[in-house]
Amino acid sequence: MSEDTKICKKCGKSLPVSAFGKAKGKNGLTYVVGSCKQCTAEHKASLYNKNKDKIATQQKKRYEENKDEINERRHKKYEQNRDEVNETRRKNYDLKRDEINKVRREKRDDKKDVVNEQKRKWYEKNKEAVQEHRQKKYKENPVQAEKARARAAKWYAANKDRSDTERKK
Ligand SMILES: [Zn+2]
Repeated sequence: MSEDTKICKKCGKSLPVSAFGKAKGKNGLTYVVGSCKQCTAEHKASLYNKNKDKIATQQKKRYEENKDEINERRHKKYEQNRDEVNETRRKNYDLKRDEINKVRREKRDDKKDVVNEQKRKWYEKNKEAVQEHRQKKYKENPVQAEKARARAAKWYAANKDRSDTERKK
């Protein structure tokens, strides 16, 4: 073998110089590195793997560090959102409540109208009988009959406008 051989400091094998890489030293001169190309490649791979692990660890660490911040941000966003949601909900509830009360009031008024209308119609139908009954009652108990008459007059006065309008139709 005419080719010079060199012993790798890593694997300890005696290999041709061409199996070793070359590098530039601090003095600017090129020298043959101590480890064979294969060992250098393995070393680089192991460095890369170490670095990869390091990077992964750093990323994980960064995530762990930022996790609080991220959660904090998320929480704040949630809090803000919650306030907004509650505000909207409250507004909607107020609107709905007003609407419900309005409908309730209208229904109550309708019912009142219906009841009054029924009373009035019944009275119209039974006017003579009522008057007869009243007169009879009046004779039997003038004081109580007078009270009843006053109550009826009061009701009639309260519903007079409606009754007049109804009659004009
Ligand atoms: Zn080697």
